[in-house]
Amino acid sequence: MIRLLLCTDMDRTVIPNGIQKEAIGARETFSQFCYEHTVTLVYVTGRHLALMSQAVKKYKLPIADYAITDVGTRIYHQKDNQWHPICAWEKEINQDWHGIEPTKIHHLVCAIPGISLQEFEKQNSHKISFYIDLQQLDESGCFAHVKKQLSPLNINTNLIWSIDETSNTGLLDILPPKANKLHAIEFLQKHLGYEAQEVVFAGDSGNDLEVLISPVQSVLVANATPELKKQALSLVKQKGTEQQFYQAVNTKNNNGNYSSGILQGVMHYLPTFKQYIKG
Ligand SMILES: [Mg+2]
Repeated sequence: MIRLLLCTDMDRTVIPNGIQKEAIGARETFSQFCYEHTVTLVYVTGRHLALMSQAVKKYKLPIADYAITDVGTRIYHQKDNQWHPICAWEKEINQDWHGIEPTKIHHLVCAIPGISLQEFEKQNSHKISFYIDLQQLDESGCFAHVKKQLSPLNINTNLIWSIDETSNTGLLDILPPKANKLHAIEFLQKHLGYEAQEVVFAGDSGNDLEVLISPVQSVLVANATPELKKQALSLVKQKGTEQQFYQAVNTKNNNGNYSSGILQGVMHYLPTFKQYIKG
């Protein structure tokens, strides 16, 4: 029997919090599908566990079996409504940082003018997050300063830059390079013993791109921006992963946005799962 490990991004992929319209009943259909016993649902999100659970409640999303949270730095297993961290994942990503204390990174980086530490709940031992004053630092200036400050620690880091447009503040995450969405999905697939053809990932934006263009079977929901659609298409052509990329489309009965796009993608890869879609 074919099983499905359905991994999906949250904001603007399964959560309809973008400007496009969600199809009527899409989330209910999606939820029912996810509760089928052959489907294992995984949320893959930048959110931390509490913010993830908040969104599940607010948007009446199905409760996932696994969660890859905090930009890929944590993986949790859900059992009896309790979340349990998968410690083997922390061990895996800790190889990059050989057990370095986060406070060492805090001190070195906060010495740079214009950078301050984010709130405690947004941090963990493998995700060190800062606010950047955009009046004082731009992306390249910030990266150059941070790299210089961290050089005495001799650790590999992945710097992730974004901007909170509502407050016009820069956001910087410092992570071990192994802690990313793609590697976390591949780790979970192996950990749970799924075949490549039993895994589907869905996403909508730039931080999903690495997975969307990878050999993981992926769906780009129709509400993604035209720029991202173009970029993803050109990258999969370059990488030869076109067979593992599906762009959800707007059809007469299905607008392909958010969760309806996810299910469209699942049907593309695994047509036999159509029997589980009600409504
Ligand atoms: Mg998203």
